[in-house]
Amino acid sequence: MQSIVPFQEPVTKSIAYVKDSCRRLGLTEEETNAICDPQEVRLFKLPCNVLGETVIFPGILCLHNNARGPYKGGIRLDGSVDIYETIELARVMTLKTAVTDIEFGGGKTGIRVDWPQVLAKYGKKSDDWAFMRVIARSVIEKYAQLYGDLFSKHIYVPAPDMGTGPTEMAIIYNYTQDPASVTGKAEGVAGWLPGRKEATGLGVAWVTKLYVEEVLGKDISQMTVAVQGFGNVGSHVAKYIYEMGAKIVGISDVFGGLYDAKGIRVDQLLDHVAKKGTVVGFEAESISNDQLLRLPVDILIPAAAGHVIGVDEAKEVQTKLIVEAANVPITLDGMEILNSRGIPVIPDIIANSGGVVASMEEYSRSLTAMLRTKEDVFDVIRHKLENSLRGALAVAEEQKIDLCRAGVELAVQRVYQSMKNRNQI
Ligand code: NAD
Repeated sequence: MQSIVPFQEPVTKSIAYVKDSCRRLGLTEEETNAICDPQEVRLFKLPCNVLGETVIFPGILCLHNNARGPYKGGIRLDGSVDIYETIELARVMTLKTAVTDIEFGGGKTGIRVDWPQVLAKYGKKSDDWAFMRVIARSVIEKYAQLYGDLFSKHIYVPAPDMGTGPTEMAIIYNYTQDPASVTGKAEGVAGWLPGRKEATGLGVAWVTKLYVEEVLGKDISQMTVAVQGFGNVGSHVAKYIYEMGAKIVGISDVFGGLYDAKGIRVDQLLDHVAKKGTVVGFEAESISNDQLLRLPVDILIPAAAGHVIGVDEAKEVQTKLIVEAANVPITLDGMEILNSRGIPVIPDIIANSGGVVASMEEYSRSLTAMLRTKEDVFDVIRHKLENSLRGALAVAEEQKIDLCRAGVELAVQRVYQSMKNRNQI
C-alpha cells in the first residue's frame, strides 16, 4: 500500500535518513513507509478560559510508532508548533527510544500558544511569567481532560518539552491519579524520579566527554564550548560541562547571548538567571544568537529550538564538533553541508536521550512503587548512552557512514524487527 503522508510532508532529516537506512537494509517500499509514517495523527482544539474569555488553542497529537512500547514524547507549548514539526519530533522519538534500546515507542504533542500575541492581547509584559503559567495551566487541564484516557491506559505516556515542565506534568497526574500515566513529574508527586530534571543535560555532557576522549583523543578540559539555550537542557549541559573543566565562552537564550573569551562563570550565571529569568544582563560581551552559532569554538551545542542550523549557518559555523542537545536543530540541507565540510555531529537521538532513559526509569518506578536514588538513575543513563554512542560509532565505521545515519540505522533495524514480531509489517 502506498503512503498517504509523504505527499504532503516535507522531506525532513529523519525521513531522508530512515529511507536511506531502509534502502541499505533492503526493505520494501511498503515496509519503509510503515516505519516512516505516523500510525495516527490527531488534530484538536482546546477552548480555555483566560480572564473570563474563551480562547481556543489548536494542537496536534502524533502517535508515531508503538512497536517497541507505549508511544512516548513530550508536550510542546510554543507559537511555532505546526503539524509537520510535531510529526517529525514524534518520529525522532521512535528513533531515539530504539537506538537507546528502551521499551517505548515515539509520540509527540504540539500545542500552539503564541506567547507574544497572548501577552499583548491582555496588556501583559513579555516577562509576566505568572500570567504565562496561568495560561499553561489552563491549556494543560483541558488537554488532560481530552486525552486522559490515552494516558491512563499507558497508550501514550507524555513528558515535558519546550514550554512545559514538572508543574504541567503534575496537572496530568492530578487528572489521571496514576503515577505511570506521565513522566517528568515534580519532586514529591507520586512516582517522581530523583535526577529526572538534570538527566537530559547531564547525558549530553557525558556523551560529549566520551566522544572527545575516545574519538578526538582529547580531554574535555581542553575544549572551548558555545551553548545555545539556557532552559532545562541548556542550563544543565552548561553546568555539567563547566564542572568537567571545559571553557564555556558563549551562552544564549531567546532574549540574547553572552561571549567571554576567558570563560563564563556558569555557577554565577545560574544565580543571575534564577533572579532575572534570562542570561541577558550578566557580565560579559553581548552577542546575538546568530553570532553565537558562528563563534570559533571546539564544540557548538544547540540546546534550544529546532532548525536553527540551516544552509547559511552550516556554511559559516566555525566549530569542530556539533552536539545536538535540542531536537532536530540542524536541517537536512544544513546537515549535508556540515558533512561536506567534515564537521562531525553527535545526533539528537543519542546526545539528548538521557531524558527519555530517565523517563523509562520513572515509568518503571511508578508502576512498581520501588524507590530509586539519583545515583541509580545516573548509572542507568550513563550505561545506556555509552552503549548507544559506541553502537552507532561501530556501525558508522563498518558502513563508512556518518554518525547520524549510523544511529538511525541501528534504530530502524530494531523498530523493523519489533514491527515484524508484532505483525505490524
Ligand atoms: P525550555 O523551554 O526549558 O528552554 C528552552 C531554552 O531555549 C530557553 O532558554 C529559551 O530562551 C531558549 N530559546 C528558545 N527559542 C530560542 C531561539 N530561537 N534562539 C535561542 N534560544 C532560544 O526547553 P528545554 O526542555 O530545555 O528543551 C530545549 C530543547 O531540547 C528542545 O529542542 C527540546 O525538544 C529538547 N529536549 C528536551 C528534553 C527535556 O528533557 N527537557 C529532552 C530531550 C530533548
